[in-house]
Amino acid sequence: MDSNGELVNSAPSAPIRHENLWFPGGDVVLKTDTHLFKVHKDVLSLQSSVFKDMFAFEGEQAVEDGAGMVHELYEGLPAVDLVGDVGKDIAHLLQAAYYRDYYDRYDDGTPLETIVALLSLSTKYDFKLIRKDIVKQISRNYPNSLTSFDRIDQQSCVPDFYLFGVHRGDCDFRLLEVCHTADADILLPILYYACAEYDSKWIFKLGDRLNKDCLHTLIKGKFELEHAVSKLLVSLPEELRSISCASCKPGPYISHLQNIGIESFLSRYEGSSMLFELSTNCCKRCSKELESQIDAKRKEIWQKIPEFFGFPGWEELRERSEES
Ligand SMILES: [Zn+2]
Repeated sequence: MDSNGELVNSAPSAPIRHENLWFPGGDVVLKTDTHLFKVHKDVLSLQSSVFKDMFAFEGEQAVEDGAGMVHELYEGLPAVDLVGDVGKDIAHLLQAAYYRDYYDRYDDGTPLETIVALLSLSTKYDFKLIRKDIVKQISRNYPNSLTSFDRIDQQSCVPDFYLFGVHRGDCDFRLLEVCHTADADILLPILYYACAEYDSKWIFKLGDRLNKDCLHTLIKGKFELEHAVSKLLVSLPEELRSISCASCKPGPYISHLQNIGIESFLSRYEGSSMLFELSTNCCKRCSKELESQIDAKRKEIWQKIPEFFGFPGWEELRERSEES
C-alpha cells in the first residue's frame, strides 16, 4: 500500500488501482498499461454502445475481438484489457463519465490533453454525450463565422492568448490531428483554416504529427486559399475602374497593392484596413464602394473555405452537426 492508501502491485511495471475509479461495488475491471479501474457495466453500457455490445457477450468464453480486447478474470470479476489505450487517458474518460463536476464544456481552461483524450476515446468507445460536449466546446473556440474568427485572429498576436491551458497556437495543430483521427468533420474545415494561417516553415514544424492525408489536405487548401486571395488583390484595379464615378479623377488607380502581400488569414483583407494601406485617387463615395466590394469578395472566399479543404459548405456542416 502506498502513502495515498492505494493498493500497489508488487511488480514495478504492473498497473495500479486508480484511486478515484476503484468502486467496491464495481462488477468489471478495465486494465490499461498503468492503471486498473473497477467500474460498473451498467454505467458504461448506458453511455457507450461499444461497452454495451462488449458486455452483451459476457459469459461466453474469453475471446479476443477485432479491437484487440481480451476478456479474462481479475479476482473473480470479468476483466477487459484495453490494449493500446493509455491509462491516464482512460482515467479522463471514466472520470468524465462518473463525476459530474470533472468536465465542464464551458470551461476554456480544460487542459488540452484532457480534451484530446476525451475526444479520441469518446469516439473510439462511442460515448455519444461526452463526444458531443467536446465537439461543442472546441466549436465555441473555433467558430464557423468570419466575424468571430476575425476577432480570434486579432487576438492571436497577444502573447498570452491561451486556450485549454496552452498558447492558442499550440492547440491548432494538436486539435486538427485528433479531430482528423476522430472524424469530427464539423470541426475540420475551421481547424484546417486555423493551421493554414501559419507559413510553410511552421506547418512542417508543428504539423509533423499529422498523418499524410491530413497534411496533404492542409497544404492543398492553403494553396487554394492563397490563390483566391491573390485573385482578390489583382481584381482591385479593374474593380475601381468599374465603380469610379464622373467626379473621380480621370483614370482612377490603386497603388501600394504590392505592400499587402498574400496571406492565409482573411482578417488581413478587411475592406477598411486594406484601403488604409492602399493609395487610391478616387472620391470618398467610390472609395467606400470599393471597401464594400473588398468585404463582399472576402466573404465569398470565406464561404469557399470548407470546399478548399474538401468539405461541403458551412451550412451543410452546421446542419449535419445539429443532426448528430
Ligand atoms: Zn467617385
